[in-house]
Order: sequence, then C-alpha cells, then structure tokens
Amino acid sequence: MILLFGGLVLVATAVATWLISSLAVEEVRKSTSQNLQEVAVQLRDKIELDLHERYTDLSIAAAITSQSILGDQSVSVPSMVNALQDHFPSYAWIGLVSPSGTVITSTDNLLQGMDVSERPWFQAAAEGPYLGDVHPAALLESRLENPSSSPLRFVDIAVPLFADDNSLLGILGAHLYLDWVASIGESLLAPLQKRLQTELMIADRDGNILIGPEDSIGMQIPEALAKKADTAPSGYLTGAMAVGEASGAQGDYLTGFSRLRDSEEYGGFDWLVIVRKPASTAFAPANELRLTLITTGFAVALMLIFFAFFAARWITRPLLRMTEEARNLDPDQPATLIKQRDDYEEVSTLSSTLRNLILSLTARTREMNELNTTLEHRVEERTRELESANALLEDEIVQREAMRRERERLIRQLEETVRTDALTGLKNRRHYFELGETAVKKSIRSGAPLSAIMFDADYFKKVNDTYGHGVGDKALVHLSRFAQETLRDIDVLARVGGEEFAVLLENTDEQGAGEVAERLRSAIESNPLPLERGRLTLTISAGVASFRPDPSDDLDTLLLYADKALYQAKAGGRNRVCLYSEIQQATNS
Ligand code: GH3
Ligand code: MG
Ligand code: MG
Repeated sequence: MILLFGGLVLVATAVATWLISSLAVEEVRKSTSQNLQEVAVQLRDKIELDLHERYTDLSIAAAITSQSILGDQSVSVPSMVNALQDHFPSYAWIGLVSPSGTVITSTDNLLQGMDVSERPWFQAAAEGPYLGDVHPAALLESRLENPSSSPLRFVDIAVPLFADDNSLLGILGAHLYLDWVASIGESLLAPLQKRLQTELMIADRDGNILIGPEDSIGMQIPEALAKKADTAPSGYLTGAMAVGEASGAQGDYLTGFSRLRDSEEYGGFDWLVIVRKPASTAFAPANELRLTLITTGFAVALMLIFFAFFAARWITRPLLRMTEEARNLDPDQPATLIKQRDDYEEVSTLSSTLRNLILSLTARTREMNELNTTLEHRVEERTRELESANALLEDEIVQREAMRRERERLIRQLEETVRTDALTGLKNRRHYFELGETAVKKSIRSGAPLSAIMFDADYFKKVNDTYGHGVGDKALVHLSRFAQETLRDIDVLARVGGEEFAVLLENTDEQGAGEVAERLRSAIESNPLPLERGRLTLTISAGVASFRPDPSDDLDTLLLYADKALYQAKAGGRNRVCLYSEIQQATNS
C-alpha cells in the first residue's frame, strides 16, 4: 500500500510538474516573442520618425536655400549645411546641386564643382522628394574618413528646389551613414539590453541583411521569416532562425519583426526590422521555473509519501492484526476469536463480519464433528450386526452341510435298507436282480460263463408248525450264516423269498457251481440249529443253471433254468442238488 500510494503520488507529481512547466514554458515563449515584436515595432517607429526628421531637416534647408538662390542675402547656404552636419553627424555629405547637375555648395566643400547629373538620386529628385536605398559610396569613398573596416554605405535623401513658377532651381541632396540606423537601434535597445539580450538586424526589401552581426551582413534572412513578413506588417516567429552558414548561429531563436511603412511624401525603404533572441537565453526563466516546479514537486511528493506511509500504516495495521489473529485462531478456544475493531468503519464491518463468519463456521464444524461421531458409531453398530449376521449365516451353512450329510447318510441307509433283507441281513430279491442284470451284461461282453444256484429249505412249514414262528426265523438266520460262510466273498447270496435263496457265481461253469451247491447243502445238513432241548437238523434242495450267454440271453432265463432244476431236486426227494443240464439230458433221452 505504501508503495502504491508513494508510486501514485510520484506519478501524479511528475505529470503535474511536466504539465505545468510545459504550459509555463509555452507561455514564456509566447510572451517573450510578443515582447520582441513590440520592440521591433518601437524600433520601426523610431526609424520612421528619425527618417522623417531628416526629411524635415532637408525640406527646411531646401526652403531656406530657395530664398538664398532667389536673392535673399541674409542666408548663407554653406554655413547652413555645415551647421546641419555638425548638429547631426550621421550626415556624411550635404550638397546643393544646380539643375544641370553641378555641385554648387557642399559640406566641407567636398565634390564641389563636380558633375553628379548621372547619380540616381539627382535624376529622381528632379520629380519630387526622393529616398535612396543603401548603396556603397561611389565618389565619396576616398574623400571621407572611414573608421570601420567595412566599406562605407549610405542612404540618400534628395529634395528639389522650385521657384514660384515651378521651375527647378536646384536639388538639395544628402548622404547619411547607414550606421545612423544602427545607432537608433542601439539608443533604443541600450537601456533594455540587460534585460532583453537581443540582436538587432535590418534587411532591405529583398531580404538582404543591411545591419546586424558583422558576419551576417549581405546574407539573406531565413525563408520562414521572409514568408511570414510578406503576410503581416509585424509579428513574431519561434523556431530555427539561423542566418547564413558562416554565422554559426544555428539553432533556436525567438524573433520579432516589423516592416517600415512608406511615407506619402517621399516613399520609403520597406526595410524589415528584426529583433531576435537565442531560445537558450529566452527560455532561461522558463527553465528556471521548470526546475523550481520539479524541485517543489518532488518536495511535495516526498511529503505526500511521508503522509502516505502513515496513512497506509493506519489503514493496514488493523488488517495485519486481524490476519495475525486469524492465523492463531483455534476454533475450540473462544478467547482466540478475531476481536471487534473500531479503527475505522470498513475495519469495523470487516472484523464483525469475520467474527460472525468464524462463529458460524465453528458451529458448523462442531455439528459436522458430532454428526461424524454419530455416523461412526452407527457404522460400528452396523458392522457388528453384519458380523454377527455373517456368523449366523456361517453356522447356518455348517448346519445345512451337516443336514445334507445326514440326509445323504439316511438316503444311503435307506438305499441299503431297500436292498437288504431285514431278518437275515442278506441282499434282498431286488438287489439280487440289479446285480444279476449287471453280471449278465459283463458276461456277454467277456464271454465268461455265469452260473446261478437257487435253493429252498425242505419242509419248512413243518418247522414253523412244530416249534413256532420264532424258531423258524432263527432257523432262517442260522441257515443264512452257514451259507454265507461257505461261499466266497465275490459270490452274491440273496434271500429271494420266504425260505428261498439264490446265489450268483461269475466266471463259474455249471460243474463248479454244482460243487458249490453241494458244499452248501452238506454244510447246512451237518450243522444243525441248537435248540433249548435237542437240535434241529435243516436240509435244503438246490437247482443249478449255467450258460455262456449270448446277447439274446437274460437273467430271467438263467433263474428260470435254476428254478426248474430246484423243482427237480424237490421232486427227486429233497436234500439234494440238481443241475439243469441233467434235466435237459433226461428230457432229450
Ligand atoms: P417243501 O419241502 O415242499 O418246500 O415243503 P415246505 O413246507 O417247506 O413248503 P411250503 O411252501 O408248503 O411251506 C413254506 C413254509 O415256510 C410256509 C411258511 O409258514 C414258512 N415260512 C415262510 N417264510 C417264513 C418266515 O419268514 N418265517 C417262518 N417262521 N416261517 C416261514
Ligand atoms: Mg418254499
Ligand atoms: Mg420249503
């Protein structure tokens, strides 16, 4: 802020200083130029006046001379012209010339008796009063003292002398040193020179410099000035005003000018009076003013910066304090809250707004924290619930798995039960048929022989009738046990009816099966069932059938053959084994 304020003050001061000094310099330039113009006008007036005086001098002298020529003896023309010259030393020469052009009387008798009829002033003056512009001395050069190194230059005034009948009596002519004009300028400028420090120049109607700094004489005035002087009788000009190459006065000048006016009586020179001044001198006061302004400006700027420093400090201090407070803010400690400030209105508003903002933010944060805590608790609760639900689910899965296993076990048990005879624990009829179907297919594929034995307890009804059904059951279990012990593990034994059993023998031909049947019969007969009193001998009858099956054969056929053989064994007296092949042989024979 201090930098900003200081910078603004500096920029403002610089701009103001520049603006004011530019305006001031412009004003000085203008007023100085107008001054110069006024001086030029005054100088012109003075020259015109002086010229008129000279003309008056000569007119009076001419009138008196006329009297003398017309016979007035009281007047001496020679002493009059000498008196005129004494009185006004700028007259280089005054002389009376006869109408034919011979010099009759002159100052210091110079040119007396000489013929000047060819001189332009003599010829022109015959018509009326004449002013002759600057020219070098033709006849007088060698006859006059010349204190300066430059050639003598004159202007001419000539007045005709007329008789009452208007006949020309003669011409009174005068040559004036040109320095006369310079001395007019000097006399006018001298008292002002210290203040103005100007240069005077006079140029003729063609712009040639007649009077001025020595090296500028004979040079042309600058074109800009010539143009301007053509448009106005007097004026001023600022800017480049160098005159001639040799002058060395290159550069910036302020120039005032004024042109001599013509007289009704004797015409005029149309000279241009020029008063000029180098810009460097002209603007010295302006530059001093500028310097003063800049110095003052910077002094003021420094003061303003000084004040800006304090103002900025005053403005920023409460803001910095608040920043510090905000940095150290602890939402949990109300003591660290931003204080209410009353340094100035904006700070007061800002501090109370910040206070309220922080208070509401703190309240919001607290609410959010509480909400957060509640949420965390809820999430924990939900997590616990989910975990226990998960555990329950896992238990459920374990239980279901156990139930599934139990069911499978029960199914297996059921299947076992369905396939097992409840009394004897042997395979039942259904199981026997299942295994038999498989064995037939296997035998068809391998071509191995397959045999079946069907056997039945003899006169079992009598056992039941004699000892009761309980003993009958025990007898069936006893019979089953001995049959099982007698057979190989791979042989299939099943209870297919009340006291009727069947055996399946794979890879066994009829002869082998017959031997097995005989072993069965013999083992049962020789192992009677022990009773409470005495023993009960049981016998069986068995039928054996066998084939090497072809694809058209089935289990039913084999069992039918075995059953036929069993029937034959019963019919043959019981307690015996009968082979199916034997029945066929008996039938064939
Ligand atoms: P056969 O020598 O001709 O075979 O004479 P049998 O008396 O054994 O023949 P039958 O078929 O006339 O009688 C079979 C008897 O077997 C009838 C029945 O009381 C008895 N029996 C069948 N199943 C059981 C059973 O599970 N337990 C008991 N105790 N007796 C049964
Ligand atoms: Mg029976
Ligand atoms: Mg029986």
